[in-house]
Amino acid sequence: MIVDYHTHTSLCKHAQGDAEEYILRAIGLGLDEIGCSEHIPMPGGFDEKHRMSLEQYQAVYAPRVTELRDKYRGRITVRRGIEADFFPGTEAWVRGFIRENDFDYVIGSVHFLGSWGFDDMVFVHNFENRDIDEVYEKYFEAVRQSARSGLFDIIAHCDLVKKFGHRPKRDLTENIRETMKEVRKNNICIEINTSGLRKPVKEMYPSEAILKIAHETGVLLTLGSDAHDPGDVGADFPKAIELIERYGNGRISVFVGRERSEVPVSKLTAGKALRRA
Ligand code: ZN
Ligand code: FE
Ligand code: FE
Ligand code: ZN
Repeated sequence: MIVDYHTHTSLCKHAQGDAEEYILRAIGLGLDEIGCSEHIPMPGGFDEKHRMSLEQYQAVYAPRVTELRDKYRGRITVRRGIEADFFPGTEAWVRGFIRENDFDYVIGSVHFLGSWGFDDMVFVHNFENRDIDEVYEKYFEAVRQSARSGLFDIIAHCDLVKKFGHRPKRDLTENIRETMKEVRKNNICIEINTSGLRKPVKEMYPSEAILKIAHETGVLLTLGSDAHDPGDVGADFPKAIELIERYGNGRISVFVGRERSEVPVSKLTAGKALRRA
């Protein structure tokens, strides 16, 4: 089984294409499942430049995913996901939104430290006035909080803070081990997210060093491209699958109606890759 659980669409205003183009690309690659996991709508104009409105979710995105799931049934399984921000103070709203919608899985993302959208190129200069070790520590603390929140099934890109190539000076092994323990304890998994390879850091999320700790801690893995362009569906999956074999006992977590099961990951065979749309 092979899945891509992390994809976007033009509705979030920083991605290209309709969900159907992502699905067709996934079919072309021979994936078994594709998850539509657009950025969650948020209340009060929160980061509205990077997401659809609640009205758009209800009137456009949710029905579109349903329609495409039915249209492509038998050719690929379309899952209903969402990439939900973890932002202290908004938990109750997010919990309500999740309860009111029938997701197969919820991906939890830390994109903010306080009001700083640290993964936004527009605010990258903020790295310069800060102690990089403190930034990393605050980031992993937020990831632990997100794991404890009980909101999510999957922790997204769990070392996103490295996106622009800023590296900690201190050894953060113990901090990361605590973070992975928290993930394990809360019975959720992390994704191998290939989009880091397409960012300035040019490295998978998470790093191999973190995957090693995740493996030692018994953290389960799943898989996503975080495609913001249909052409990025399944990007670098051969590398990601190798990592799943090495650090995930060759198994991935898959979700139906927020119930997790573990299945062996399959290879993206040359034959499958050749059948590209
Ligand atoms: Zn995005
Ligand atoms: Fe994200
Ligand atoms: Fe994403
Ligand atoms: Zn993401």
